[in-house]
Amino acid sequence: MEGRCYCGRSYIMKTSWTDLNPGRRYSICSNFREAGGCSFFSCMDPPVCERSRQIIPGLLRRVNKLENDVTKLEKEVGRRRSTEVKLWLGLAVSWLLMA
Ligand SMILES: [Zn+2]
Repeated sequence: MEGRCYCGRSYIMKTSWTDLNPGRRYSICSNFREAGGCSFFSCMDPPVCERSRQIIPGLLRRVNKLENDVTKLEKEVGRRRSTEVKLWLGLAVSWLLMA
């Protein structure tokens, strides 16, 4: 979502994934904190409640770990599949040689 800041530039909506504000959306000016930048900063969501603050960072870490595991498994499956193809080719060649 985009809009205009009072300095005339557009502002961007972002989502914070820090441990203190997991999932909290905020808007900052696209010129934020640059030299002579604008200080426009506004939170869209209310403060993250204590319970979410405890749970969400852990969930995020778990999701990241699972995504890594899936990537590893996909690579492993790819490796095994190519090994299997080589085995079948070898078998076919040996049948041809026997015939
Ligand atoms: Zn601005």
